[in-house]
Amino acid sequence: ANTILSGFGTTIFTVMSALATRHGAINLGQGFPDQDGPEDIRDVAARVLMDGPNQYPPMMGMLELRQAVADHNHRFYGIAVNPETDILVTSGATEALADCLLGLINPGDEVVLFEPLYDCYLPLVLRAGGVPKFVRLDPPNWEIREDRLREAFSERTKLVLLNTPMNPTGKVFTVEELQRIAHYVQESNAYAVCDEVYEHLVFGEARHVPLATLPGMGNRTVRIGSAGKTFSLTGWKVGYITGCTDLIGQIAKAHQFVTFTTSPALQLGVAYGLNKGDEFYTDLRQSLEGKRDRLKTGLEAIGFKTADCDGTYFINADIRSIGFEGTDEEFCRLITTEAGVAAVPVSAFYVGEGEEKHFVRFCFCKQDAVLDQAVQRLSEFF
Ligand code: PMP
Ligand code: GLN
Repeated sequence: ANTILSGFGTTIFTVMSALATRHGAINLGQGFPDQDGPEDIRDVAARVLMDGPNQYPPMMGMLELRQAVADHNHRFYGIAVNPETDILVTSGATEALADCLLGLINPGDEVVLFEPLYDCYLPLVLRAGGVPKFVRLDPPNWEIREDRLREAFSERTKLVLLNTPMNPTGKVFTVEELQRIAHYVQESNAYAVCDEVYEHLVFGEARHVPLATLPGMGNRTVRIGSAGKTFSLTGWKVGYITGCTDLIGQIAKAHQFVTFTTSPALQLGVAYGLNKGDEFYTDLRQSLEGKRDRLKTGLEAIGFKTADCDGTYFINADIRSIGFEGTDEEFCRLITTEAGVAAVPVSAFYVGEGEEKHFVRFCFCKQDAVLDQAVQRLSEFF
């Protein structure tokens, strides 16, 4: 078959996880925690499974969860929205992204994307008929070059898809960078769809600022969150979109025909989770920051140079720094099959030619002993 999607292979996460399983490797490739999130959240969901409700929840999401998302927006970012009209619950951030693209663009509309980009963005943009325009960020600092930003936007730009904190780079966009992006979005009279699934995984001095909070952006921006990342329950696939009534209404037009709704037990579990006290969020951040430092120290002791990581689950290592002369893909296959540690090649997140092939993404949301063992295996191999 010759379709838009037939040009895409199997997603890199599935490829690397399968290879890791086949070789008994420690899987630092696909991003998921190796310990499940809070037991009390799972308890709430389990109770709903037994006692109900278990039939179709409302199309926009259960009001308990929409209220919790609204409260969360207000608590962390001062964003005030109406839970009845300005929030949409989806089956994961992935569905949220699909709904936004299907609901907000027409075939031929231009969509600005930052490269390296998360793997589902391009197929979804293309399948929705969008014309991608890339702003490439270069390692190791992933700064936005002004000329590239300016060239990507035009009067045909319909929306920009922004991921901060950013997978796979670990970059957290600064307020100054967001202001520059906001300027072009407004000049093109476009929308912004912000994938903020790692909003609570931000380290050190870095701060997560939603683009939606910048002047003039509230009515043209939607932000996407995911319980998978915030509660270390990636298999749950519960996402939520916040935006103005008009945009959420347009996006709901897609959602009602894509999944319509999401498991009530999981929605109520997530509603309970979002209402947890600030301490939960602080502990999550501190725990992951410790894991980032642990893996970074271990990789650097082997001789790897690592790129800055201010957020997400991921740290990138430069494979040239230990004298490896092949590509990142060859490197990942080698360490998975021979050293027993899997990682993901960063070139998989590029579309165009001429990308760097020297960076490898390691996932650090694992138990300390697992991270130590991975470092041990790598240091014995190199
Ligand atoms: N966006 C980004 C940047 C991600 O890294 C991921 C997956 N971890 C998703 C979206 C998908 O989230 P979900 O599992 O909630 O669909
Ligand atoms: N977001 C996860 C990652 O970047 C993977 C999610 C998936 O496997 N689709 O590793």
